Amino acid sequence: LGVDLTTRRLSAAPVKSLRAVAPVIAQALVAAHTVDRLREASILDPLTGCSTRPHGIVRLTIELKRAARSGTPLALVMVDIDHFKDVNDRFGHNAGDAVLTSVGATMMQTLRASDVRCRWGGEEFLIVLPEAAVEQARQVAEALLRRIADTQVVSKAGPIRITASAGITLARPGEHDVETLIGRADRALYRAKAEGRACVRIVLGDFKGAPIGNVERPGPALPFREARMIPALNASPNVPPAILKRWDGRAWKADEIGQGGTYVKPWVK
Ligand code: GH3
Ligand code: MG
Ligand code: MG
Repeated sequence: LGVDLTTRRLSAAPVKSLRAVAPVIAQALVAAHTVDRLREASILDPLTGCSTRPHGIVRLTIELKRAARSGTPLALVMVDIDHFKDVNDRFGHNAGDAVLTSVGATMMQTLRASDVRCRWGGEEFLIVLPEAAVEQARQVAEALLRRIADTQVVSKAGPIRITASAGITLARPGEHDVETLIGRADRALYRAKAEGRACVRIVLGDFKGAPIGNVERPGPALPFREARMIPALNASPNVPPAILKRWDGRAWKADEIGQGGTYVKPWVK
């Protein structure tokens, strides 16, 4: 405007110009702020602080290309809260929301800033771990599930404890198809659910370069509610009783099953 704002008194003409232009500037500032808010809303899920699904796909695509260029590994972890419908039914939808917020915070604390945390759907999360091979991915997923299981969310209807299951896969060198990759992580998650929940399962498909094949390992500690499933698991035709052992190798005592406290998943390959 050519107005020298350091002078104390403005003559009538520049004041008039300033008055005329001020609303336009104000409007532009509001518009810029709105664009900023909309942009943030499109990339960040307000409940969990994770990326939204569309933004997660963008980040995954970028990381896949980076991994292909640099020849570094890349792991995908699909995490789903166990029996979350029961949480809503027992404690109410607001308490369910608080649990989702808490899981988002646990992810933030557990993962690196460079990892991608994405709310894939209702109570399902996709995590992208750049430069992680299968063993690192397993450690991260197990640490995350353990922290989720150890976190208590306070609600009006009492404390809430939850567990989550996780499925892991690795990107094959040069793999670009996001859907196939997510499909494998989904299959691994499905196995974790089918094999008792609150555990990590890995599906690498026919990935020849994988350092380890499709791996089974004991899952993290299970809270009481899940521990009660042990007799059912014991009866499963897929799990011979001989391989049902405690995490620490001790045999299960009858009175340990179905009692309070925390047990570990009796699953050993
Ligand atoms: P599973 O262990 O097999 O995963 O069982 P589940 O009960 O977790 O899975 P299911 O798909 O049956 O139920 C998911 C529930 O998550 C149902 C839906 O109402 C709830 N949900 C989805 N999004 C939200 C949300 O934003 N807030 C709340 N409170 N609940 C949600
Ligand atoms: Mg679920
Ligand atoms: Mg789900």
